[in-house]
Amino acid sequence: MNVWFYEDQTPDLRIGLRVGRVVHHERSPYQEILVADTDQWGRMLALDNVIQTNETTEFVYHEMMAHVALFAHPNPERVLVVGGGDGGVIREVVKHPTVRQAVLAEIDEKVIEAARRWLPSISSGLDDPRTRIDVGDGIDHVARSPDTYDVIIVDSTDPVGPAVGLFSEEFYRSAFRALRDGGLFVAQTESPFYNADLIRRVQQALRNVFPWSGMYWGVVPEYPGGFWTMSIGSRGGDPRRVPAGRYAERRFETFATRYYAPDVHAAAFVLPPFVLELLPDGAPQRREAYVERFLPGAGEEAGEEAGGSGEGEESGGPGGPAR
Ligand code: SAM
Repeated sequence: MNVWFYEDQTPDLRIGLRVGRVVHHERSPYQEILVADTDQWGRMLALDNVIQTNETTEFVYHEMMAHVALFAHPNPERVLVVGGGDGGVIREVVKHPTVRQAVLAEIDEKVIEAARRWLPSISSGLDDPRTRIDVGDGIDHVARSPDTYDVIIVDSTDPVGPAVGLFSEEFYRSAFRALRDGGLFVAQTESPFYNADLIRRVQQALRNVFPWSGMYWGVVPEYPGGFWTMSIGSRGGDPRRVPAGRYAERRFETFATRYYAPDVHAAAFVLPPFVLELLPDGAPQRREAYVERFLPGAGEEAGEEAGGSGEGEESGGPGGPAR
């Protein structure tokens, strides 16, 4: 069969994927849902003609959305995923034995149903006994949950329709209140090649709300440009560090990952200059890069202030023990 699926990545750029069988197609109250088989990536999910996930390369995005914050937090027990109806982020969250409850706040129950039925390798975590599903707007869920979560992860569609509010400063303030002390907030924030203005706006908003904010990235082949950013805000420590000590080391040993690793955790926060420029003045990642580039030798002081890498070495951070 020679049927092609095209996604417009910008008004002037589209990617195409040859599709075999269409296994599911419906229009929910929120969006058009398509599940189709492809030779390139196996089964894939698209919403409103935008590729969300696929069986072959999904591990990068889902691991990086979940594990950076869950390993940076000393003891994540209660975790919220906003959006994420395919279940991929929840699957990674429930791999952490510290997690007692993982809540999915997804607006579209039809996405959850389609993922359960047609994408079981991605949605498996939805059936974990610690998972609770709240079908509804994630913005309302967060507003109703003061002082509740250790980690909040926003796995949303692009900022159109019901997802627009998930990229606003007002929502970040609400998320800050929904976090317990030491809590971490993560959101997928698109491509620095094609969404620079959005990233700049999100980074400034996070900076206005969280005592520590910054950005990391991963290689996500199914999204425009492949270089994908995750923005992060912390009510506690610097998330570039994995807490030191035996406890964290044991956690690294409890399950296998294919993209996330201690070195990748540290490396993901290293940003090329064209991406650093999207961070507001004074964001720690930008200040340190500046100090190291233009004031050689002064970096040690900046490194100490922002967490450095010393403790990370002992705990499975840069150069830490392999699993
Ligand atoms: N990883 C994907 C990406 O980056 O394109 C996103 C996957 S997940 C399927 C996105 C989900 O966010 C969709 O199922 C959509 O229904 C949900 N969503 C969008 N806005 C939402 C909101 N305000 N509250 C809860 N869920 C929302």
